[in-house]
Amino acid sequence: MSPEKITITFPDGSTRDYEQPVTGRDIAADVSAGLARQALAVRVDGEVRDLMRPIEHDAKIEILTWDDPGGRKTFWHSSAHLMAEALEALYPGVKFGIGPPIDQGFYYDVDLGERAIGKEDLERIEEKMNELARRDAVYERRPIAKAQAIEHFEEKGDEYKLELLEDLDDGSITFYQQGGFVDLCRGPHLPSTGKIKYSKLLNVAGAYWRGDESRPQLTRIYGVSFPKKSMLDEHLERLELARERDHRKVGRELELFTFSQKVGPGLPLWLPKGATLRDTLSSFLKKEQIKRGYQPVVTPHIGRLELFKTSGHYPYYRDSQFPPMLEVPGDGDREEEGFLLKPMNCPHHIQIYADQLHSYRELPIRYAEFGTVYRYEQSGELGGLTRVRGFTQDDAHIFCTDEQVKDEFKDVIDLTLKVLGALEFADFKAQISLHDPANKEKYQGDEAKWLFAEQSIREAAREMGLEAVEEIGEAAFYGPKLDFMVKDALGREWQLGTVQLDYNLPERFDLAYIGSDDERHRPVMIHRAPFGSLERFIGVLIEHCGGNFPLWLAPVQVTVVPVGQDFYPYAEEVAVKLRSRDVRVDVDRRNEKVGYKIRSAEVQKVPLMLIVGEREMRDGSVSVRRHGEGEQDTVSIDAFVERITEEIDRHLTS
Ligand SMILES: [Zn+2]
Ligand SMILES: [Zn+2]
Repeated sequence: MSPEKITITFPDGSTRDYEQPVTGRDIAADVSAGLARQALAVRVDGEVRDLMRPIEHDAKIEILTWDDPGGRKTFWHSSAHLMAEALEALYPGVKFGIGPPIDQGFYYDVDLGERAIGKEDLERIEEKMNELARRDAVYERRPIAKAQAIEHFEEKGDEYKLELLEDLDDGSITFYQQGGFVDLCRGPHLPSTGKIKYSKLLNVAGAYWRGDESRPQLTRIYGVSFPKKSMLDEHLERLELARERDHRKVGRELELFTFSQKVGPGLPLWLPKGATLRDTLSSFLKKEQIKRGYQPVVTPHIGRLELFKTSGHYPYYRDSQFPPMLEVPGDGDREEEGFLLKPMNCPHHIQIYADQLHSYRELPIRYAEFGTVYRYEQSGELGGLTRVRGFTQDDAHIFCTDEQVKDEFKDVIDLTLKVLGALEFADFKAQISLHDPANKEKYQGDEAKWLFAEQSIREAAREMGLEAVEEIGEAAFYGPKLDFMVKDALGREWQLGTVQLDYNLPERFDLAYIGSDDERHRPVMIHRAPFGSLERFIGVLIEHCGGNFPLWLAPVQVTVVPVGQDFYPYAEEVAVKLRSRDVRVDVDRRNEKVGYKIRSAEVQKVPLMLIVGEREMRDGSVSVRRHGEGEQDTVSIDAFVERITEEIDRHLTS
């Protein structure tokens, strides 16, 4: 029989024919020697696979290099196996949990028995990894029968892998082996260990098996690896910068927020400067929303259980809510009655909508509230502002018709881009989560409605010039959504808030508007909190700017530094003038040397310092210093007031 030809389609649509079987490596080499050198894995009809795994049918392929997330994941997953091999060599009898790639690197959860390792042992493991990598052992993929796989790990005495095997179907199980190390693994992996030239193990932490506090605690070892030394160096530098900018550290230094064990974990307390920052940010957002036709509403922090039963939030999400305040404990005959701390603002806002009968002429109706909600996050997950138990959403609910969805999304995108611009975020994009057409019964509402809404969101993003990736099957059962993502100054990507379409709650609460035909119609609802929560967003913002907030947002915009006691009254005079123009200003009246006061204002990252002494008092002037730039010039008070107010306004209107 003559060898069968298959057609390979490349990302640009071009095709080439090959005798099958052909591997990703063969195809890469056929394209260019450079690509073959850089190839890490291959995407075959959407699935990332081993470069060396034969391709036997016509397929769309993409050769994955370091630049592709799939390529990096394969690299890091293979590094996790390499680390496991090193551990097995150094700690015979070690047992393995799971070892996945993560956003930036990889980890492996291991059971060392009676032994313990700390940070000081990591270097030795790294050295072993490097030694093994130099052997350039092949990662060999091997399908294996379930019975044989079980036999292998029984013999090895690894109960974790045996437990993982329980959930796998016979016929779908593969082993990967490099050198003497064998792992239960779906892959994919690099062709061989030689590519993993620069590895760095970063951290050791405890991790419960399967995240369950009642199961054994394993040792989680984090690492990262790169094909080039310069990449590793750059990464370590960024990590160091990230540590310096950690919002928990900066928040403490700048006196923005604190936590009290007496108040409870995950419940941030905003100090005066942090509260000022929060207020400034929310006033800015409120102003923008008023311009766009949002109407403010205010609702209480609790609501009857009944309300959350209708909305479906209770009891289904009971585990992630604070326990209810019960008036009547439920038993067999009676339903429990009482109140719940609100986990969401939506049901309250819906009751405001339902308070009146609305006409189509009023739509869209947009209710906005900086609404504080409460969720019971596991205490192990709490840390800083990124995971908290009480937080304030920049929440709004829009009630509109299907035809209005597109314009509403456009407006939310416009608002978000404006705010991100004012905060000096330059790199952002969106993800649109769509329904899975192969799984129609999963979703509420008819297919045509979904397709129309999804097209509206897609067009909204495109018309606003917002780069958006689409994820099929990621939509909630009740509607498609758009998520905002920003890249911070350190190149890390953060997911912010969401614009979520909802066909479910209007149904559950039987909402209506009267159409031009005098009939009742169901409005569609949009939940939108483009920044998510103030807490989390401020955490991201702190790390983005390292605490150097833009002038308009800085909690203290100006510190006046009198050079001696004689000039305190004049310093106060300057402060009063600035305050009368809404500039946030402090006078440093401490009995300290000028140099000390300047340094302390620098540490506090106050954008502007005004030094006043004999000459300034005589001339009615101030000597201006800008944070990080030193002395600039001496100008009259009035000129300075004009200059700073103009600079603040320019930021807010550009
Ligand atoms: Zn693996
Ligand atoms: Zn909502």
